[in-house]
Amino acid sequence: MGEIMNIEESTTAHEHFGFDACRACLSRDIFLAIDLGELPISNELRQDAQNANELFPLRLQVCKNCSLGQVSSDILPERLFSDYRYLSSVSSSFLAHARMFCEMMVSTGIISDGDLVVEIACNDGYLLKNFLGKDVQILGIEPSINVSKKAEALGIPVINDFFGSQLAHKIIKEFGFPKLIIANNVMAHVPDLRDFVKGLAILSGPDTQISIENPSILNILIEKQFDTIYHEHFSYLSCNSVENISNEFGLTLFDLDHLTTHGGSNRYWLRKGLSVKSDVLLSEIQREVRAGVNDESAWQFANKEVAQNLVNLKKWLKECHQSGESVIGYGAAAKASTLLNAADVNLELLSEICDLSEEKIGRYMPSANYKIISYKNFLKKKPRHVLIFPWNLSREISEQIRKDLPESDLWVAIPSLKRLD
Ligand SMILES: [Zn+2]
Repeated sequence: MGEIMNIEESTTAHEHFGFDACRACLSRDIFLAIDLGELPISNELRQDAQNANELFPLRLQVCKNCSLGQVSSDILPERLFSDYRYLSSVSSSFLAHARMFCEMMVSTGIISDGDLVVEIACNDGYLLKNFLGKDVQILGIEPSINVSKKAEALGIPVINDFFGSQLAHKIIKEFGFPKLIIANNVMAHVPDLRDFVKGLAILSGPDTQISIENPSILNILIEKQFDTIYHEHFSYLSCNSVENISNEFGLTLFDLDHLTTHGGSNRYWLRKGLSVKSDVLLSEIQREVRAGVNDESAWQFANKEVAQNLVNLKKWLKECHQSGESVIGYGAAAKASTLLNAADVNLELLSEICDLSEEKIGRYMPSANYKIISYKNFLKKKPRHVLIFPWNLSREISEQIRKDLPESDLWVAIPSLKRLD
């Protein structure tokens, strides 16, 4: 995210760091849920291979009161987001998902002619561009200047700033209340969750609907998607936590859509004032209770399974190495860093990761200095095995690799190590 965080914001953010309190409800009744050990910062890719590694504990804690998951850290947000290289438009299935959402907003009448749509963390314009050419007013908010330049080049107006209560006031003054506020995959990365939700409440008029997409914490508890835990990912949402913090600021969680993006996400629908809860939402709240989302023993069990998964992965990599079979990783995303580092994979077992993003190729992922190589280079090496890190995109990725490398076996490591058929 951004190069432009000011001192006041970073101080506020830091106050919430390293505290033994819930970032949403401020309760101190939190417990250790998943412990991944000491890991490097996942998105901090290096220009050169380096030996010195700065490691930070990576532990998911869960609030017993509101069931928000969180990663506590003493790393300043300036550092975590100073070198942000994630471009939403790299994934074709993600683009299709965004386009369908925009079409649905128009076809269901949530958005009509002349309405204002605000997207928080608009990234490179992957979503808002679908409203271009329509009679809809759009506004993107994106703190990362290098990423938002791409959105602006498409003709999308962007405010380069972090979203919170202050910015919400400014937007209303200049643009009025939006009809729709979109906040996809951003709440997890917000250091000051309370000010973010306060901002949503300020920006909401009587007819405003808020759509928030985010993977559910149940994905970690039930589906063992522990590689979605990383230092930049501060919060892990549940219906319970979203409802709890929303109520505090005068918003109501009234509906929920189940999505297939990012290995299963929830789209939370919020609005100002009271509203009847949909059946889908009520049943998801029940599912959280049944899974034991704020139950320490349920998480202890999950933590053991995660540890076993990591042992199995390393064992398989060792076997491949011993039998002289090469393994190259695919997709140098944060997921790859969490998985490889939590499993303590050295360069002998896996040394290269292929990625399509020009901004990543040629760099090194800590801590072992896994080299990020281009797709062309990857094909030349004809690996015996390919370990696909973005398992949530494994279908589109494997279709492509199979065409180009029909001899290679393709694998994913989540929820457990599996060869793709
Ligand atoms: Zn809480």
